[in-house]
Amino acid sequence: MTTDHSGSASSPLTLRDLDALEVDRLKGVGPKRSAALAKVDVRSVLDLLRYYPRRWIDRTREERISDLVIGEEAMVVATVQRVDQRRLRGKRTMVTVVVGDGSGRLTATFFNQPWRARQLSEGMDVVLFGKVDEFRGALQMSSPVVDLLGDQTGRVVPVYPQSEKGGVASADVARLVEEAIRRSRQRSIADPLPDEIRRRFGFVDRDTAIVGIHTPEAMTDVADARRRLVFDELFSIQLELVRQQRDRQATEVGVDHAPSGLMTGKLLQSLGFPLTGAQQRVIREIVEDMQRPHPMHRLLQGDVGAGKTLVAVHALLSAVEGGFQGAMMAPTEVLAEQHHLGVSGLLAGLEVHDPNSLLGTRPLRVELLTNGVSTADRRRILAQTQSGDVDIVIGTHALIQDAVGFFRLGMVVIDEQHRFGVEQRAVLRDKGPDGSEPDVLVMTATPIPRTAAMTVYGDLDVSVLDELPPGRTPIVTRWADGPLDEAEMWSHVRDEVADGRQAYVVCPLIDASDALEVRSVVETHEELIGGELHGLAVELLHGRMTSAEKESVMSAFRSGDVDVLVATTVIEVGVDVPNATVMVILDAGRFGIAQLHQLRGRVGRGTHASTCWLAGEATTSDGEARLEALVESTDGFALAEIDLELRGEGTILGDRQKGRNDLRLASLKTDREVVTHAREVALELLDADAPALEALLDDAAVLLGGEETEYLRKN
Ligand code: ADP
Ligand code: MG
Repeated sequence: MTTDHSGSASSPLTLRDLDALEVDRLKGVGPKRSAALAKVDVRSVLDLLRYYPRRWIDRTREERISDLVIGEEAMVVATVQRVDQRRLRGKRTMVTVVVGDGSGRLTATFFNQPWRARQLSEGMDVVLFGKVDEFRGALQMSSPVVDLLGDQTGRVVPVYPQSEKGGVASADVARLVEEAIRRSRQRSIADPLPDEIRRRFGFVDRDTAIVGIHTPEAMTDVADARRRLVFDELFSIQLELVRQQRDRQATEVGVDHAPSGLMTGKLLQSLGFPLTGAQQRVIREIVEDMQRPHPMHRLLQGDVGAGKTLVAVHALLSAVEGGFQGAMMAPTEVLAEQHHLGVSGLLAGLEVHDPNSLLGTRPLRVELLTNGVSTADRRRILAQTQSGDVDIVIGTHALIQDAVGFFRLGMVVIDEQHRFGVEQRAVLRDKGPDGSEPDVLVMTATPIPRTAAMTVYGDLDVSVLDELPPGRTPIVTRWADGPLDEAEMWSHVRDEVADGRQAYVVCPLIDASDALEVRSVVETHEELIGGELHGLAVELLHGRMTSAEKESVMSAFRSGDVDVLVATTVIEVGVDVPNATVMVILDAGRFGIAQLHQLRGRVGRGTHASTCWLAGEATTSDGEARLEALVESTDGFALAEIDLELRGEGTILGDRQKGRNDLRLASLKTDREVVTHAREVALELLDADAPALEALLDDAAVLLGGEETEYLRKN
């Protein structure tokens, strides 16, 4: 028996086999071409086969030039007859290309694309796709899509992504792919997906899919191939995530919690309001997790203002009840400080068991660890955390990760804002007592769509807080996109302040540098105190201020001594001042939906009616759609779906997915249903311990890439 996956020389080729074949084994790939291919991350035959066409030229839809209809879009295949380049006024250039196909001639014009003159030359066969119009009696296309046909034949011609510098032409890739397909034909490509599943979804087999995506006979082949390959990508991820989750449950030893409910009971009594039904349900889920033998790995999703903090505090306190410590990690210092204040307030007066004290108890201790804490204090807090004298430590991701040793860490809450990676989470596991691993609760700042959550956090159990506490007056959102509206906006701010309320003004998002951002916020502040907000107590808050400065401004704002806080997005997450009823976001078109929603969530936290003003014009149609969505909806879950619709998955997956190359064809935007199916099939096959699992898991390992899986395997 062998565990070698390369199989025998005649068995069908697995993905691992294909990955083991270097691309330079193919004809015509010498050192130079293999270097060029490496630049586009094609090293193995598998990489090549997964280097999918960017689009396909459907030559069955090709038209003769003589048949073209003015005003309609069309595709022609023709030979270049002449290329001219002209300078226009200013620095503009125009390249004119005359092509002919025997039936007639057509002129393609390109403005400000001087490189076209180098790309195209006489005698080349090209494909032009664009709208046909007429100029001085001649047929013309302006700035059509151009593909070089090379010597490619076939009814549907694949067009491969081409990097300008990469130096691998689409036609070269096509030829190499064809050769790879031809040479794999003898052994054929293995398909470990069980027949039953294939039939259920009407999938073609893997071999057919690979052939179909690269050398289709018709566009329907492409569609069939894509459906199968998209499934494979998403299924690999789900299979690996679910497997990981199961492995963890089977192998990891959790902390022996003893949530007595004594302290949490006191906490709940002291609140002055009942928990929402959703909070009760989620708290129950967490307490049940804590009593299981393996550690909790749970994601807490909830809309802004749904009361996630209280759920987190309840979890930390439940750990403390059993004699363990808790840690809470925030993405920013401001937020860590805010949590520290909030948590200390909630837990004030609680006592913990302490055999060394005369009374047998001592006050529960919550400490803050940020860069703002003095070196001496920090040293003391670290030492006392190590000795177990501190019960709950609150800090930023960075601090808790590196520096802290715990006496008996039992519960970690990560307030995440998409910034905390899988790798970092692993670090925490070393911090539990005697080989056991602390429970982990991850909270997202704003909801993310279900399919994205399933892909990014698919190894976690999910709790959803889908209910806002009662008594909130809904936030009215207004878009001020002209001077009149803006005048009304500032007068509204002044009115609210006159009524004893407070306001935030968030300054434009500047991606350039910290320094620029600070300048912009300082300038805005000056303009406002000299103008629209003259006479009010207006203070500044930005990331370049020291922690002490930030804290003093925040506490002045909390206590009502400051009327208006002019800030950068440092206030984005978590800031909780119920008396603030106006949020003004300047140049709102530059912010993303999630960020706007999060910023808006800083108001509407008390009993007074609140307003969010989105100021400025939207510079793009997407920007306009974003602002309109915000005006229309205050439901974070609905907004998250719109966000995915507008932006695609890239930004939503964010840092967590950086460097992962597992989504080549699949899109969380258009293939949502497939994500769900992939999850279902993964669960089904793992539950049934299906015979195909070993091969499928190996596929996943190959598709998800070396580092990733090695990491996943290690854990
Ligand atoms: P988020 O989910 O955005 O983190 P928070 O935890 O900051 O929300 O809670 C928002 C506000 O709602 C806080 O002021 C908190 O005290 C309050 N709150 C939390 N739970 C309830 C509840 N069940 N009833 C009333 N107010 C609540
Ligand atoms: Mg919060």
